[in-house]
Amino acid sequence: MELTIRTGFGYDVHRYAEGRELWLGGIRIDHPIGLSGHSDADVLIHALCDALLGAANLRDIGYHFPDTAGEYKDIDSKLLLARTMQLLDEKGYSFGNADCTICAEQPKINPHIPAMQQKLAEVMQTDPDRISIKATTSEKMGFVGRMEGMSAYASVLICKKG
Ligand code: MG
Repeated sequence: MELTIRTGFGYDVHRYAEGRELWLGGIRIDHPIGLSGHSDADVLIHALCDALLGAANLRDIGYHFPDTAGEYKDIDSKLLLARTMQLLDEKGYSFGNADCTICAEQPKINPHIPAMQQKLAEVMQTDPDRISIKATTSEKMGFVGRMEGMSAYASVLICKKG
């Protein structure tokens, strides 16, 4: 029996890096330290893409956008998200909702959440109310707590069209 609704889960992590811009949830946050990565290192978008791909059983972000490919060097992750939505559409799925968590000691994420919801909703052509973004620290424990980097988790629901 074919499922009419499916869930997906995504996780990503990026290391802090001096001299890089900080891109998170599709927006640039003014902060002295950014994240290192082959793309713009938007850890939230990457977790979200993986959740969407996983829900549709379409492998993962590294499969579709390999970091060995020159075309993805420093790429705006919003383009990867838009392409991911296209892949879902081609497989006959529409987006339901997403619930995401960013785990970071710095900077303060909460003031930026409405702008991230708005930007991601634009890219995904959906309502901002369908995209929940939450933030937490790691209580100074582990690699996030030692401020080596940040991580993000995403859970999504997708629906079979028609
Ligand atoms: Mg990544």
